[in-house]
Amino acid sequence: MLPICHFCENSLGLLVREYASLSQLEKQYFGFPGEILMRMLKLVILPLIISSMITGVAALDSEVSGRIGLRAVIYYFSTTIIAVILGIVLVTTIKPGVSQTADSIDRAGTTPNVTTVDTLLDLVRNMFPENLVQACFQQNLTKDYTLVGTYSDGINVLGLIVFCVAFGLVIGKMGERGRILLEFFDALNEATMRLVQIIMCYMPLGILFLIAAKIIEVEDWDIFRKMGLYMATVLSGLAIHAIVFLPLIYLALVRKNPYTFALGMAQALVTALMISSSSATLPVTFRCAEENNRIDKRITRFVLPVGATINMDGTALYEAVAAIFIAQLNGLDLDVGKIVTISITATVASIGAAGVPNAGLVTMVIVLTAVGLPASDVTLIVAVDWLIDRFRTMINVLGDAYGAGIVQKLSKRELERMDITSDVDVANP
Ligand code: ASP
Repeated sequence: MLPICHFCENSLGLLVREYASLSQLEKQYFGFPGEILMRMLKLVILPLIISSMITGVAALDSEVSGRIGLRAVIYYFSTTIIAVILGIVLVTTIKPGVSQTADSIDRAGTTPNVTTVDTLLDLVRNMFPENLVQACFQQNLTKDYTLVGTYSDGINVLGLIVFCVAFGLVIGKMGERGRILLEFFDALNEATMRLVQIIMCYMPLGILFLIAAKIIEVEDWDIFRKMGLYMATVLSGLAIHAIVFLPLIYLALVRKNPYTFALGMAQALVTALMISSSSATLPVTFRCAEENNRIDKRITRFVLPVGATINMDGTALYEAVAAIFIAQLNGLDLDVGKIVTISITATVASIGAAGVPNAGLVTMVIVLTAVGLPASDVTLIVAVDWLIDRFRTMINVLGDAYGAGIVQKLSKRELERMDITSDVDVANP
């Protein structure tokens, strides 16, 4: 079914390309149904994050949510580091930049410098928005920090997550009065998920036009040949991470078939591939994780929104490969110190990247400047980023989903204990 859909999308785009030379405005009209899909998905991000995080945290007691949070963070970090190391091993072995000359790829434009310290400060700054309403729609707090941060389509997601965790913890401790608020957010969550269900009916059509419109837009197909080895390195790294490492970790910790689990996430993975945004895929990720893979809502509500914001294995792997590729193009020798710097900055840059299209390309600047490469060299890989971005977003989403499955397994005892306590509560209200 899925390959057929994919075939239809590509064929529609190629057909229109072949038989109709569309003006810019006509291309825009052609992409309209896809644009509407993106808008609908983005529309539900805000109520979804707020309602799921608050109810998720309030439903757990602070000790349990702390432990679940810690497990999730350990998982996020270790898988991101594994992805970065895998990327470095592949790019230093394949050496995609050594066989080419820098001149064969266009150099254009300039990009401002952003340091690792800037990114870290910006991350912390974003965690504490000074105005909650502003955090829901303002693009950036200051002009200087436009490149980094965790803004997804105008929403300061990290700031909202921190607020919702704190708010949820407080509500959880408020007893009877807190229960009113909890019920409100629970109902909001249910209503949002019902909306998601409606959006999913429109999804196949929206996706069809989204991809076809992208195919019409591509001007220079030759660039893919020129950048072939670089793309192959990134894509094979992503494939190894998705097919070998993540499933192995899942198998070792959960002792269930990881591929059945991945199959359950298929719809979310295809959505991520088509729309290149983990944040906008979040509604679908929730549905697949809860309905197909039966992950406890108390876990998904907590682990998935945070994962979509800071856990980006695909982005981290890509950042490491791209930075070393650019160094190779520049004929720069990378010693161990520089490779370690790339690993650290690629990890930070992936955490700092928002779950929106091409965010990783923007935070690449941090990695490049950390090893003394010109930030403007990011333009060397811009032309193929729209394609690579789709695959890394898919791996980002897969990593979050496996994370939810693993954290659920590791937190089984706490969840069971909570079930018993709530049964007792129901029996003796
Ligand atoms: N598009 C990616 C995501 O949404 C971020 C990136 O550009 O790497 O997960």
